[in-house]
Amino acid sequence: MKYIYGPVKSRRLGLSLGLSLTPHKVCNLDCVYCQLGKSKQKFTERTEYVKIEEILEEFKAWIEQNPQSASELDFITFSGLGEPTLNINIGYLIGQIRKLTNAHIAVITNSTLLKDPQVRLEISTADLIVPSLDAVRQDVFEKIDRPAAGITIMEIIDGLVALRREFRGKIWLEVMLIDGINDTLPQIKELKEVIEKINPDKIQLNSPVRSTAENGIKPADKDKLEKFKDILGEKAQIV
Ligand code: SF4
Repeated sequence: MKYIYGPVKSRRLGLSLGLSLTPHKVCNLDCVYCQLGKSKQKFTERTEYVKIEEILEEFKAWIEQNPQSASELDFITFSGLGEPTLNINIGYLIGQIRKLTNAHIAVITNSTLLKDPQVRLEISTADLIVPSLDAVRQDVFEKIDRPAAGITIMEIIDGLVALRREFRGKIWLEVMLIDGINDTLPQIKELKEVIEKINPDKIQLNSPVRSTAENGIKPADKDKLEKFKDILGEKAQIV
C-alpha cells in the first residue's frame, strides 16, 4: 500500500488506520526529533502533493480486503509521511472518507497552517485534531522544529486559539519534550500560560523514544515529565 499504513492499536486512539496525504517528508518543518529523517527541502506551498482519488481507491480496496478490521476501526488518522494540511484537498478527502466508514477521523498536524482560516475550515469536519506545540518562544521553536523561513510561533499560537474558538470537535495538544532544549521549569510555566489560552481538551506530553533526525536527541527525564504533567493540570497526560 502506498498511502495507507496500519492498522495499529494504541492506547490513545484504539484501532487506527493511517492515511498519508503527502510523499515522504513533504513538510515545512525539520524537527530534530522527526522519525522520517532530516528534511532535504522544506515545502510551504499548499498543493495536491498526492492525488486524492488515488488515496480513495486504495482505501476502498483496503476495506474490501479487510472487512473485519474495517468494521472495528476506531479512527482514520490523517498524518503519515509529512504535514497533511499541506495537501490542498484535505477537506475534500475528509468528506469522502466519511462516506466510506463509521470510524472517527483525526488530523495530526504540526499546527503551522492553522493561522489560515481556510485550513481551519477544511479540517473542521474532523472529529479530533492533534496539533503540536513544542515551544512558545521563537528561538526555542527554531531550535527544535527548524521551520521554513517566515513561520513564527506567535502565528502558530494565534492559529491554535482560533481553532479552539471555531472547532466543535476535540483538540488534543501534543507537546514533545526534549532533554536540554525545552524541558526547564520556566519554559513549562510559559507553556502553561499559552495552553490555558488555547484550552485544548487534552494535553499530551511526549518525548522522543525512537530514532530521530539528529543524533544526540534525548527524551526528557521521566521524573521531570511527571512533574510537568502535575504543573499542567488534570488535562495533561504522558503518552
Ligand atoms: S512536523 Fe512531523 S513530519 Fe514535519 S519534520 Fe516535524 S516531525 Fe517530521
